[in-house]
Amino acid sequence: MVTVKIIGTGGVYPIPKRRLPVLYIENGDNDGRACLIDCGEGTQVALREMGINMGKIDAIYITHTHADHVMGLPGLLMTIGLSERTKPLDVYTPVGTKTALLKLFEICGPLPYELKIHEVGSGDTVKQKNYKAEAFSVKHTVTCMGYNIIFEKPAHFDVQKAKAIGFDPRNFKILLADGEFNMDGKIITPDMVTDGADRSFKICYLTDSAFCENFVENAKDADLFVCEAMYADEEKYETAQKKRHMMMQQACEIAKKANVKNLWFTHISPAWNNPFEFEKTAKELFEGSHFPHDGETGEFKF
Ligand SMILES: [Zn+2]
Ligand SMILES: [Zn+2]
Repeated sequence: MVTVKIIGTGGVYPIPKRRLPVLYIENGDNDGRACLIDCGEGTQVALREMGINMGKIDAIYITHTHADHVMGLPGLLMTIGLSERTKPLDVYTPVGTKTALLKLFEICGPLPYELKIHEVGSGDTVKQKNYKAEAFSVKHTVTCMGYNIIFEKPAHFDVQKAKAIGFDPRNFKILLADGEFNMDGKIITPDMVTDGADRSFKICYLTDSAFCENFVENAKDADLFVCEAMYADEEKYETAQKKRHMMMQQACEIAKKANVKNLWFTHISPAWNNPFEFEKTAKELFEGSHFPHDGETGEFKF
């Protein structure tokens, strides 16, 4: 199971009841690891309110270094340090932005754990213990990345199938690691002793960008697509294009063409008072659309 909590759904600056865009992702298999995408002002208060153990966070992915996406970092890193953490924490940020982050972190003072800052470019994949993160370029006013977070699980071992061909279950681990197993001259492949294909769960996170047809490929078949919907008012198309942001309608178009399962809107303009009244309109454009409230949780089995 993967647990996803949308910490904030606003963009530009926080307003009462709408924090800045941050996504918290936890591997539900309870291995004590979690990651964040972006960290706007107020993130640590929200995490505390939601009862999230900040010590679990061992990776933070930054889309870009605009203030609404990074201003919460120094405070969060300092608070994590107060818990005597010693295990390293990795921050991934777009190419060319490491210096800006280092400047921002100067105000943290010494931390009791190692802070590793890695720059990522479009097409880069970060392999983590139980998932991988893929970065892709988006079209904003500064260098900005979208991220695909992909959890993968091998198919289940099928005792009956294995028995029928005389496969010893103790060799299953080797078979998975090598992709095949030589059983007295007979080559055994995973499909011969499992219940089917490997399973995966894909989250596509895309914010602060003008619309681009390429995003259909990036979001392809995502189980959860978290996409910005800065505006929905048709008169705002030009403004969105000029400021390099997206309309709710464009997020729906990508979701539909990319065949995603769920679409959550984020980075709502602070001038847009009640996005929830657009839920019906959004669902007409793409059935799996949803305007989450700040702090909303999704638990996804896969
Ligand atoms: Zn923003
Ligand atoms: Zn921005």
